[in-house]
Amino acid sequence: MRLSTYFLPTLKQTPAEAQIVSHRLMLRAGMIRQSSAGIYSWLPLGLRVLKRIERIVREEMDAAGCHEVLMPTIQPADLWRESGRYDDYGPEMLRIKDRHERDMLYGPTNEEQITEIFRGAVKSYRDLPRNLYHIQWKFRDEVRPRFGVMRGREFLMKDAYSFDVDYAGAKRSYNRMFVAYLRTFARMGLKAVPMRADTGPIGGDLSHEFVILADTGESAVYCHPALLAHDVLAADIDYRGDLEPVVEEWTRHYAATDDKHDPGSCPVPADELVTARGIEVGHIFYFATKYSEPMGCAVTTADGDSAPVHQGSYGIGISRLAGAIIEASHDEDGIIWPDSVAPFAVGLINLKSGDPACDTAAGDLYAKLLAAGVEVLYDDRDERAGSKFANMDLIGVPWQLVVGPRGLKQGVVELKRRATGECHELSVDAALSRLVG
Ligand code: ATP
Ligand code: MG
Repeated sequence: MRLSTYFLPTLKQTPAEAQIVSHRLMLRAGMIRQSSAGIYSWLPLGLRVLKRIERIVREEMDAAGCHEVLMPTIQPADLWRESGRYDDYGPEMLRIKDRHERDMLYGPTNEEQITEIFRGAVKSYRDLPRNLYHIQWKFRDEVRPRFGVMRGREFLMKDAYSFDVDYAGAKRSYNRMFVAYLRTFARMGLKAVPMRADTGPIGGDLSHEFVILADTGESAVYCHPALLAHDVLAADIDYRGDLEPVVEEWTRHYAATDDKHDPGSCPVPADELVTARGIEVGHIFYFATKYSEPMGCAVTTADGDSAPVHQGSYGIGISRLAGAIIEASHDEDGIIWPDSVAPFAVGLINLKSGDPACDTAAGDLYAKLLAAGVEVLYDDRDERAGSKFANMDLIGVPWQLVVGPRGLKQGVVELKRRATGECHELSVDAALSRLVG
């Protein structure tokens, strides 16, 4: 991408309305713009990051044996009347009437919708277990939308739904998602800590939130220090095997969110307990037959009886993650994207656009990187070097490749790692093979 023709409306000034660093940086880096409270447009740079996060989530869901579907954003109220949640959900639900005066709503979540699809299609225990997911916009009319995309009203969520014949099967499905979540967040460079959590309006009795510790987090969390010393889960996983040991490893130390934490019965001594703030990036639930029973989603069992299916649901806040990753990875100059979610792999800076030697060398590097499938943002604008550096630091591209007249005379370019500031002079070929390798 040539910056001279790109749409990247960066801001020099810090926007006054933004209270936390990720919100400030997303606005300054030209990633998002607010449309109304808690509702945002994603501009090209932001959308690239969102898509990358989405892709990692999708790959890990698919690896765990889930199948992607796409359900609508607008749902009929009657479905929610069947489960009893239409009246329970409260003012967070955006209720709409169509032209025929039928009650509709903008989905805050999809348990009812998926249960309806499933009950119409699956009749036998032989067709279980199954796990279906989608990545779709949700709307919740939050009391206090704030912190940019972290607490939006319209936000992008991955929600998966598991269907099993009994508790034992449902626990296996739960474990698969638990492990898939550890892997998903690890791939984004995040250390997400699973914590016992309240089930809220989704219902049920087994639930974990995946939380990133950050001072700007909205929830208070408590845990044993040993849990924070765990390495992220990077190993390959055989999802057909028994995952209970992995889950056990990650749940044997105390960790709880505010709603579940009781200082009176907490097993960790007060002087050891880690008390911190956290950002909830994922939440998994097992809720047995809470929806399948009232909605009549049953299968015939091996004995020929009929039984309601056991369900779980599993959410990841995809748009919230864009902000959470920035909260976890930035410095005073701007964002520091982990490679896996970076909008571009390389920022190519031409220090002297208009200078024939620089234009040729940078143009050549740009073409070669593109040909090798590397995503490059090429700053070919006629701007001061200082402002080009500041801009590239702000948007946080992991590698900066700098082409300038002085270096070219000696046959070298400069390669800088955004995260460490480490900088090396290399021949053009050496720089290329470093980035392409
Ligand atoms: P919270 O406690 O933050 O309000 P929740 O428990 O109501 O979230 P869930 O129903 O568990 O949310 O939704 C699954 C995931 O969707 C959450 O873990 C979070 O990452 C994301 N999410 C929920 N609400 C929002 C929101 N208002 N803005 C952005 N992401 C959200
Ligand atoms: Mg939650």
